Amino acid sequence: MILTYTDDEIQRLDREALRSLQLLRFKKIITQALKTDFYKKKLGGAGIKNAEDITSIDDIKKIPFTTKEDLRNTYPFGLLASSKSDVVRMHASSGTTGKPTVIYQSQNDLDNWTNLTRRSLIATGCTCDDVFQNMMTYGLFTGGIGLHYGAEKLGMFVIPASSGNTKRQFMLMKDFQTTVVHATPSYMLHLFSEIENMGFSPEDFVLKKAMIGAEPHSEEIRRKIESCFSIDAYNSYGLSEMNGPSVAFECTYKCGMHVWEDAYILEIVDRNSLTPLEDGEQGELVLTNLIRESTPIIRYRTRDLTKVVSGKCECGRTARRIDRIFGRTDDMLIINGVNVFPSQIEEVIMKMPEIGNNYRILVRKKGTLDDLIVEMEVGPDIITDDTRDLYQLKERIKDELKASITINPHVEFHEPGQLPVQQGKAIRVVDERGELK
Ligand code: AMP
Ligand code: ZN
Repeated sequence: MILTYTDDEIQRLDREALRSLQLLRFKKIITQALKTDFYKKKLGGAGIKNAEDITSIDDIKKIPFTTKEDLRNTYPFGLLASSKSDVVRMHASSGTTGKPTVIYQSQNDLDNWTNLTRRSLIATGCTCDDVFQNMMTYGLFTGGIGLHYGAEKLGMFVIPASSGNTKRQFMLMKDFQTTVVHATPSYMLHLFSEIENMGFSPEDFVLKKAMIGAEPHSEEIRRKIESCFSIDAYNSYGLSEMNGPSVAFECTYKCGMHVWEDAYILEIVDRNSLTPLEDGEQGELVLTNLIRESTPIIRYRTRDLTKVVSGKCECGRTARRIDRIFGRTDDMLIINGVNVFPSQIEEVIMKMPEIGNNYRILVRKKGTLDDLIVEMEVGPDIITDDTRDLYQLKERIKDELKASITINPHVEFHEPGQLPVQQGKAIRVVDERGELK
């Protein structure tokens, strides 16, 4: 069976045709996956020895989940299903202790992903006449480079500004008359709060849209961003394990994010029993990538909590939508868009002989951005009058933490016994940012 559709047709397929396309692609991915020892074992255990053992998309339910842990355990090349010479790029996720989780892309894989990022930008009303300033970090993180390629493919005027350097962002926005930006929601609010401090005024800009993602945010935050800049802001969801941005994207109707189901199989499972849930029920999002031959990942537990938004979208796209992400099932923190696991911090602190056993991780808002404070008790031996020693130790810990979690924390020392001790389970993380406000 040959199924050839234009990208526009694919977005409007009825459910039956979409499932046929998914099945075709799923079988291809199964064939790829079986080239890795990891999936040979996993799929073999579920009775799947070749793609012909799959007769319906529902067969996916027989396959055990894949986790972040699995990706780490197979580092560096255990999940590579093509030859290394076919790989043209790799990416990695932030926020894992020790080994990163890595994905590989062939040129074909990149073209498929670029198609989705282009499609997502079009869904928000972007055109080749737009000037696109990309304020997401470029690098191993998929946020920057991912949307960059789609914007170029769409023919937008692309400014690869990357993150940070707020004054330069304003200068570029003004001088090149940027109409679309891509940033984390917290950075958008930070930008707004800095306009006047940096010698600019809102009238200097002709901004029309912002693509916001990489971190959880509420409807209230979206509205704030929209009213501050008088623009439309669109929620963008993705994760490196599934390529990066453009797993799910809002269209101009802003009523949930379309999961591009021709490229991903979408499941929501109960957060405890992990059994599949019906549309409309909240649970953990589980995704299967259907368009990446170099790194097939099947039934990946994202740990993100959401639900499928029922009903048809006014835009006519038939891909189902998910609600904004309202939490996670693990302890991963997202700090200014960067994933941080408390265990990464603990690992660094605990190998320092100068530091005692009690520590605390505080996350709070400083202005519109997130601030990470790591408080720790120093051992009795290093209480000293020589502040130089303490200063040097603090700098060393900061450097090690930065190397591990990629962001700069504040480090605070306390004398032994000064940090609170719990009767029961230690409370190591205090997140004061509140409920997604
Ligand atoms: P990474 O693999 O480093 O790109 O991180 C992916 C994670 O970032 C996801 O699993 C989510 O927890 C979070 N994330 C990405 N986009 C969004 C979004 N639009 N809303 C909420 N969380 C998001
Ligand atoms: Zn829509």
